[in-house]
Amino acid sequence: MAVTIDDLPAVLASNYQDQLKINQKILSALERYHVKATGFVIGNRVPGRSDIFELWLSQGHELGNHTYSHMDLDEVDAQVYELDIVKGAHEIEKLLLPSGQSLRYFRFPYLHTGRNTEKGNLVREFLKENRYTIAPVTINPYDWEYNSRYVEAWGSHKLQEEEQITHMYLDRIKTTTVEAESISWLYYGRIIKQILLLHLNRINAGTLDQVLDYYVSSGYTFVTLEEALADSAYSPEGELTQPKAFTWPMTFKLSLPLSR
Ligand SMILES: [Zn+2]
Repeated sequence: MAVTIDDLPAVLASNYQDQLKINQKILSALERYHVKATGFVIGNRVPGRSDIFELWLSQGHELGNHTYSHMDLDEVDAQVYELDIVKGAHEIEKLLLPSGQSLRYFRFPYLHTGRNTEKGNLVREFLKENRYTIAPVTINPYDWEYNSRYVEAWGSHKLQEEEQITHMYLDRIKTTTVEAESISWLYYGRIIKQILLLHLNRINAGTLDQVLDYYVSSGYTFVTLEEALADSAYSPEGELTQPKAFTWPMTFKLSLPLSR
């Protein structure tokens, strides 16, 4: 499986020291499990954070484009969206310059891909012309929903609640993975190379070791996004060849029976 992490430099952590700490924790977990991940960067959050991205690059991870302002394709027209991709690229390419790495992956914010719409086709054409490969997702545990509750509990020092949410999040990782395996069997007749979506956030800083440990003990090995996309389950443009597989609902409603 490939590990992809969205919304770099960090979600729900605004000060630099906090962001750095969260990134360091996530990077050390990746290193412990020999994972080379792909991090998707929000361009307008790059200024002042280049040393965080240097850590990513120096540890052999790849950075991809996640637009300049985390734009929602459902909300704007193709032209505006494409401009946001270009602006994002401008920021990220500055980071890549010293390493000589080229910017080659794009992840749609909110996974709003506009598939089978005229607008979506225009953006795809644009991505192709600009030599981007789309980064699809097959395992989506909705970590961001758990994270917002986790950050709330963390901020108000509710340790027990923090633990409860962690526990539920780890359960969710497992059920989503088993689900992804069944979808894979259903549409492809085998287990394809999976692509996990996580976000750069506090809950993953606290649990990534356990998440990766679960995958190792379930028999998974970690590959790069490039290696995952070599699976024939994906088109050369980086889309699932079975378009109905792995479509995600807009939101996943958390039902957390928490003691308040
Ligand atoms: Zn995002």
